[in-house]
Amino acid sequence: MKMLHFRKDGQAQWGWLMGEAHVTPMRKLDGEAASEVFPLAEVELLPPADPSKIVCVGRNYLDHIKEMGHSFGKDLPQEPGLFLKAPNTLVPSGSEVAYPSWTDELHYEGELAVVIGQTASKVSEEEALDYVLGYTNALDLTARDKQKSDLQWIRAKSADGFLPLGPVLETKLDPGKTTVRTWVNDELRQEASTELMIFPVARVISYVSQFMTLEPGDVILTGTPSGVGPLQRGDRLRVEVDDVGIPLEVSIV
Ligand code: MG
Repeated sequence: MKMLHFRKDGQAQWGWLMGEAHVTPMRKLDGEAASEVFPLAEVELLPPADPSKIVCVGRNYLDHIKEMGHSFGKDLPQEPGLFLKAPNTLVPSGSEVAYPSWTDELHYEGELAVVIGQTASKVSEEEALDYVLGYTNALDLTARDKQKSDLQWIRAKSADGFLPLGPVLETKLDPGKTTVRTWVNDELRQEASTELMIFPVARVISYVSQFMTLEPGDVILTGTPSGVGPLQRGDRLRVEVDDVGIPLEVSIV
């Protein structure tokens, strides 16, 4: 099932995607579908999450660790390397993201995103996926030069618009058996199975929940595979996790 977060008549609400072009609202996040049906063209899409925090895994695919020039082998991460993005980064699919004037190296990172559905504190790896509401496409925009020059990654990772997310949340998806792809101007730049993650989704949720309570609406970005690279003004991007089904589309302006 595919969930949507949208605004209609000034009111933000959740709904289920009906077919390809309609949405039916639900009164609560886990509620039953109401009887109204709206054409998608008549609603404003919102990012499918309302997080208090966005927790990101920095190095979760071996081939990306290699391309970033980091050593591995005995230096292979033993625990997930985490960082945060702030909620101001979120924008919906279809957004135009402004290339900031203060960076010369805006990079794309296509990723599988996880949205939490119930409060998770100190959960085991075995039960971790029960706390997930759904899965979606994410673009972890990064000012690579500022990631190297700034003391912390606040500007590099948390500028306004640096997390296009959506458009739908797929509630039935095996996060260990899907594929993440990123296209820039219709050219395929990233393609990797999530089976290649060093830390699978359940382990990341369990790990984070040992020290940080995950709340409904929180987002976890699961890391990017190899193939990251620079963007130019005018580029069009598409990120698609196979089983999410509907791609995330973004323009850089
Ligand atoms: Mg990333």
